[in-house]
Amino acid sequence: MSAEYSVPQKRKLVTALPGPKSVELQERRLRSVSRGAGTLVNIYMDHGAGAILVDVDGNQIIDLGCGIGVTTIGHANQDVAAAAAAQAAKLTHTLFTVTPYENYVAVAEKLAEITPGDFEKRSVLVNTGAEAVENAVKIARKFTGRRAIVALDHAFHGRTNLTMAMTYRPWPERAGMGPFPGEIYSVPTSYPYRDGLTGEEAAEKTIDYINTHIGASEIAAFFIEPIQGDGGIVIPAPGYFKRLSEFCTENGIVFVSDEIQAGIARTGTWYAIEHHGVVPDLVTTAKGIAGGFPLAAVTGRADIMDSVQPGGIGGTFGGNPVSTAAALAVFDLIERDDLLGEAQRVEKALWARIGDWPQRFSVVGDVRGKGAMFGVELVHPGTTTPYPEALTAIIKHATTNGVIVLDAGSWDSVLRIMPSVVISEELIDDAATVIEETLAALSGL
Ligand SMILES: *Cc1c(COP(=O)(O)O)cnc(C)c1O
Repeated sequence: MSAEYSVPQKRKLVTALPGPKSVELQERRLRSVSRGAGTLVNIYMDHGAGAILVDVDGNQIIDLGCGIGVTTIGHANQDVAAAAAAQAAKLTHTLFTVTPYENYVAVAEKLAEITPGDFEKRSVLVNTGAEAVENAVKIARKFTGRRAIVALDHAFHGRTNLTMAMTYRPWPERAGMGPFPGEIYSVPTSYPYRDGLTGEEAAEKTIDYINTHIGASEIAAFFIEPIQGDGGIVIPAPGYFKRLSEFCTENGIVFVSDEIQAGIARTGTWYAIEHHGVVPDLVTTAKGIAGGFPLAAVTGRADIMDSVQPGGIGGTFGGNPVSTAAALAVFDLIERDDLLGEAQRVEKALWARIGDWPQRFSVVGDVRGKGAMFGVELVHPGTTTPYPEALTAIIKHATTNGVIVLDAGSWDSVLRIMPSVVISEELIDDAATVIEETLAALSGL
């Protein structure tokens, strides 16, 4: 596989990390970039290929983050780059709502095909995940004539003012930046490692909370992430979403699967809600859809999507010609190279390599995941008490040794592993060995 890539698929360090050129750039950055746009690790990247990033000092770094699940197909894929470059040389902008073009329509057609459900569908294309969530809120309110929006505990739905209100954690996403819109409610979720409940039991708890705090008839939309990303790779117990979606149908509530992180091949299916056997009314897509170009979508039942008056949704750059060209190339690639199968291969490799961490390391409480989306929950040995310092230590050791990993979880105690689905078993093994060095030290081994 390596031969196909312009960068060897190997970790290779030629300086300490961050290297001298990164340190220099960091000094410039501190004088020019807002502190609020914080960074996990100050290694400045220059180029990439497959599962490897190369920094400005020439270090080859294993990427287990994909810029938070965006470059699912691998870095700088040449087919996607060629499609975007060709489109950029041809036409870069008209604004679809002034004069339309084919790419936008073709992406909407493809989304209708790959999203769950056999009914007639419509899509609207926007720029970012948060914008997709905001539009889903608007559309659901218009369709139902209701106001209340429900999201789950530990949810992440974005950083705009409305989506911050739907996001669970106060710190650092929300602190000091309110007020936020009203009529947004967080409700208890299913978190098998922490609550020990079956899907049915957890769903009854969620529904009881709704009935006693909000009232089902007030609710326009119920947002879920099929696998919570920033919330800590939380995968609800089997049956949980099925019961919630039935509850939504019974009560005229629009059930929205926010697939911005888990969708588009990442978990071994086009959409992660497929693992739960549930067909949502609306789906939001973003991150992995265009190989790094900004594009997002709301897709769903035609009657819901078409309830909005012309001009009611849209935006200047939404579904721009270059991003949609890239997305069409991504869709082709996923089918041509069987990237759903590749994500399943990565899942098998991860289970085989790290699945026994809870038995081997006392600081690992739980390993969970689907496809190329895994979480390792860190706890104080012998307890389920979150251990955020362990995560900090892992990230520090991994990143200074050429492995990019992500943080997650409401207690900052879940190591998030989201490599490209083209990552090799060798790179998974090498990266796991680096992470194990910290796990062993923390576990007193
Ligand atoms: C990243 C993310 C968002 C927000 O997407 P942006 O493109 O950053 O606005 C919303 N929902 C989920 C589940 C996400 O992971």
